[in-house]
Amino acid sequence: MQGSGGQRTMEIDVNPKHHSHGTPDRLTYRLQRHPMNDIEPTRLRCDGIQYRSGFIEARLVHAGHVNLETWSVGPDALGASPQWVTDVSDTSVPGNVELELDLRTAMQLADSLHELVAIQAARTGTEASCDECGSQFVSSTAIMSGLCPECSHYLYNKPNCAHSFHDGRCRRCGWDGSVSDYVARIKGTAKSG
Ligand SMILES: [Zn+2]
Ligand SMILES: [Zn+2]
Repeated sequence: MQGSGGQRTMEIDVNPKHHSHGTPDRLTYRLQRHPMNDIEPTRLRCDGIQYRSGFIEARLVHAGHVNLETWSVGPDALGASPQWVTDVSDTSVPGNVELELDLRTAMQLADSLHELVAIQAARTGTEASCDECGSQFVSSTAIMSGLCPECSHYLYNKPNCAHSFHDGRCRRCGWDGSVSDYVARIKGTAKSG
């Protein structure tokens, strides 16, 4: 399925923080020469719960896969200043895991994160209501504050949520299907998904 033939690989030195925990003799990434590697990795800092703090990186390394790497950071090491794993000392990083997700698995992970965030937002009352259609929505899914993903898509051509309805609401963004008269007119004249 994946293009296995013909792709050249190269070993390059990268930051020693990668793979330096548990396998200190392998300080290399195997990078395939592929245009996907030009895409910037997504790097996230997790600091909401002190004893489960750390960093996450998602990037493209192998064709047909998404690379996910996590670093846990000791509870005392993640103050305000370290913005990335390279900013903390090796001894403050007790764990490091790297997985290659095939595309289906990566999408399942994304879907489950969407749903869990929506459930949490509904439980903790961190939903907003859309200025245009009036629907409640998960504010963290909004590209424009005050507008649900559906309305920001039709009013401002922003990327829409890939809605997945369950019990009358999208499990990802929380939109309940409400449509303002104005957006209804736009939808009536535009052929868009
Ligand atoms: Zn709306
Ligand atoms: Zn949605």
